[in-house]
Amino acid sequence: MQNAITNTTDTIAAIATPPGVGGVGVIRVSGTESFRTVLPLVRRPEGRADLPPSHQLTYAHIIDPETGEVLDDVLVVFMRAPHTYTREDVVEVQGHGGPLVMRRILRAVLTQGARMAKPGEFTLRAFLNGRLDLAQAEAVMDLIGAQTEAGQRLAVQQLRGRLSEQLQEARHSVLDVIARIEVSIDFPEEDVPTPQPEELCPLISVAQCQIEVLLAGAEQGRLYRQGLRTAIIGRPNVGKSSLLNSLLRTERAIVTSVAGTTRDTVEEIANLRGVPLHLIDTAGITATTDPIEQIGVQRSRIAAEDADVVLLVFDGSERLTEQDRRVCDELQAMGFGGSNSSNSYSRIRPVVVVVNKADCPLHIELDALYRLWPSSAFVKTSTLTGVGIAELEETLSEIVLAGKTVSSESVLVTSARHQEALSRASEHLRASLTSLEQGQPLDFVSIDLRAAYDALGEVTGETASDDLLDTIFSEFCIGK
Ligand code: GDP
Repeated sequence: MQNAITNTTDTIAAIATPPGVGGVGVIRVSGTESFRTVLPLVRRPEGRADLPPSHQLTYAHIIDPETGEVLDDVLVVFMRAPHTYTREDVVEVQGHGGPLVMRRILRAVLTQGARMAKPGEFTLRAFLNGRLDLAQAEAVMDLIGAQTEAGQRLAVQQLRGRLSEQLQEARHSVLDVIARIEVSIDFPEEDVPTPQPEELCPLISVAQCQIEVLLAGAEQGRLYRQGLRTAIIGRPNVGKSSLLNSLLRTERAIVTSVAGTTRDTVEEIANLRGVPLHLIDTAGITATTDPIEQIGVQRSRIAAEDADVVLLVFDGSERLTEQDRRVCDELQAMGFGGSNSSNSYSRIRPVVVVVNKADCPLHIELDALYRLWPSSAFVKTSTLTGVGIAELEETLSEIVLAGKTVSSESVLVTSARHQEALSRASEHLRASLTSLEQGQPLDFVSIDLRAAYDALGEVTGETASDDLLDTIFSEFCIGK
């Protein structure tokens, strides 16, 4: 099988707009032959057959090259390299966005010698031709998939190269140290003084600090990108579906007063100050013999197991029931309910206790609840009156973000891949510092420095393997 990474001389084509019906659909063609591929399909009203000026929209018909049939009325733009998305010659045909029209235009382009682009291949070419580095290319996908404005801002900053700039700074510092060491090793006879640990350590420490700063924001960054899995758990009829609706401010889950109606789990995304909150409404964890409900119960256990945070809902207007206690036992057995005092949600998986139906007289034994969940935040809510919903959001945001927000200038590491590579770089720098302090030979020290340098290069793509590139770009959509 041909590898997209080594096979970059073909001219490629794809429908760049999403499948389905739209006002406009775009076919994108890129490669050295792209102009020659599309031009024979273009009929301009004034009968001209020459190439229109670069980067200028031209009104034309697209014809079927075999039958001469007019396939669509389009606007076509020929874009001369290098000022294009891929840095190759690119043509974009803007036609009417019907699936059949798009497919027929694409087929016409393919009959002229272009081949179908693979997922992400346009962006891969932009990367291989040096227009984007790898972190920027990944930001393209993050930007397309952004679920909140904060996530979008972070992706834009990464796409603009702000993350890459900070990484390159650290990388250059490391390279500087490597160069000093290698000059003294390679040219001992040139009287180059051997660099001393007192000279090298501060340089390495600066680079390590830069990496640590990026790592410190990585959990938060990942949160903005991936969101927080928040399971709404509790016995039937305490108001879980109603709470979901209040948090979403819509009517997504069906609310009824018959216990056990939420048989399946419902998942929706709410925006918690920029963090996509994946809210999972579960069928109450309860002993049931109804087979459909049992599936729901099973799913709610799974939802709880996967969750980063649990909203544990009780009906404040009733005394605690055996079922309530069983739900508590189940959650505690899963390790929920550590201290909520920091934002290290990924390790301790906090529980927020929601005492719902606060509009009714309070009958629940709060003391018993406090004893069951001594480290959890408590919020009283009424989904009927809206009381406590804002406080619940505030509490969640405190737990998750600990007061941090994203501005349009924030640069945060948002990807697990970047975080892993940065951690490795930092480890190697730490090891090189230890080696220097122990008086190890400099060529030994430089092994760790090289490894750190390479790990940083994996983020921006300088040292990324073909396999890694294949994996990253295959996650893109076709036409991107
Ligand atoms: P679930 O089974 O836990 O998802 O509970 P639902 O959301 O379906 O609610 C069960 C019943 O409680 C419905 O009749 C709701 O209208 C009612 N309910 C939900 N929240 C409140 C509330 O805050 N106050 C009062 N009084 N009733 C509520």
